[in-house]
Amino acid sequence: MIMPVLFVGHGNPMNAISENEFVGGFRTVAKALPRPRAILCISAHWETAGTMVTAMRHPRTIHDFGGFPPELYKVQYPAQGSPQLADEISSLVTGTDIGSDLQWGLDHGCWSVVKHLFPAADIPVVQLSLDYTKPARFHYDLGRELTALRHSGVLIIGSGNIVHNLGLVDWNNLDTAGFGFDWAMRANTLFRKLIDDRDHDALINYHLLGNDAALAIPTPEHFLPLLHVIALQESDDTLSIFNDKPVAGSLTMTSLHLSR
Ligand code: ZN
Repeated sequence: MIMPVLFVGHGNPMNAISENEFVGGFRTVAKALPRPRAILCISAHWETAGTMVTAMRHPRTIHDFGGFPPELYKVQYPAQGSPQLADEISSLVTGTDIGSDLQWGLDHGCWSVVKHLFPAADIPVVQLSLDYTKPARFHYDLGRELTALRHSGVLIIGSGNIVHNLGLVDWNNLDTAGFGFDWAMRANTLFRKLIDDRDHDALINYHLLGNDAALAIPTPEHFLPLLHVIALQESDDTLSIFNDKPVAGSLTMTSLHLSR
């Protein structure tokens, strides 16, 4: 069994407790997923110096945001961790040392989406951090090194947003699905074309893609998990795009489902 690979646009943390078309998209894709033995999340919201993997048995649900309603802070996603999978990852990856983390847990980049995919929280979840000292190519190469997990029942999920510029969010259209600034739409179209064409080098070198891409990726952390995911793409995979809409002007929820 070769597991699918997902890149999910997570967007607003409120998606964790909202009913909207993006949540509907997560639920629809969940129906097509085989049951994994474990989930590995690579979230935009865990950046470290050096690469870390969560290795605790009971990861806490981290409410890593501010200014949201109390009900969002009450959400718990009580999945188990998997020290065994953390060990496997540390052994598997040779391109860099993977540190063992007992402090982090599950951040909202992970749980706000995974709770819609696997609401029972009965599959172990491990997170892999983003090493903020490393360039884009490093993250792509690290993704490639995770291939064996895909072939042994682990569902790998990259969580970010392909277009993500919080500084330019239109606060009057925060929840308006389908509302994207012209530059955001052009950037998303460009990224989609490169994804469809499997032009991974161009995506890794996103800083060469011009002004629209620069506005879409003011900081790399929401884009990098896409690189881990496309690095796992194999020649006979089917690529499906879902939740391919902008929101709040300067974000896109565009998500990828690689499967056989
Ligand atoms: Zn985010």
